[in-house]
Amino acid sequence: MSGTFERSPALEALGIDHGFGLRGSDRAAPGRVHRARQVHGRELRRAPLESPGVEADALWTDAPGEAVCVATADCVPILLVDSRRRAVAALHAGWRGTAACIAAHAVARLGDELGADPADFVAALGPHIGVCCYEVDEPVREAMGDPRSFRAAGRSGHYMLDLFDCNRRQLLFAGLPPANVHRVGGCTACDPGRYVSYRRRDAGRMLHYVRMPST
Ligand SMILES: [Zn+2]
Repeated sequence: MSGTFERSPALEALGIDHGFGLRGSDRAAPGRVHRARQVHGRELRRAPLESPGVEADALWTDAPGEAVCVATADCVPILLVDSRRRAVAALHAGWRGTAACIAAHAVARLGDELGADPADFVAALGPHIGVCCYEVDEPVREAMGDPRSFRAAGRSGHYMLDLFDCNRRQLLFAGLPPANVHRVGGCTACDPGRYVSYRRRDAGRMLHYVRMPST
């Protein structure tokens, strides 16, 4: 399976089994995985789920050997780890989820559930559509609220949205130290050989997973 997934050196250093899927990874789900039905919201649910049709864009578990997964094509996949309390989470953050503050919400909720200190979390943000390619219009900019993650676009009424910057700001606001927020991979729209892109009208999704080891 090597070559199918990109990995975060920071999560590898913690001994966390994880991967950001490349093109074709939707057919290479490793071991026991838990997925919810993604709806561009910010709901965080604990896996295993009570039924496979449960809607959520953030899943967490503290069960060793059980992977939580999200699937994306341009949206930001975020893997969160608290190695001290041995809990992991996978988040799906497109512009709607980002506007709903899914990353900050997940850190706050997990902090409550686990009695965790946000400073113990490590986050890896995987391949997504970059500020180089992600042009959005005025309604999206208004929905996002915070103007700091936008750049000028080539035509009026449009903007380039930096989803990495936006989600990183949320994680720092939620209490993660800057050194604990990592970026993995490139722009999904720029690299068709490597990634699936919704904007490029590609079919399929890429699968991203994280699990605590069994031992
Ligand atoms: Zn790009």
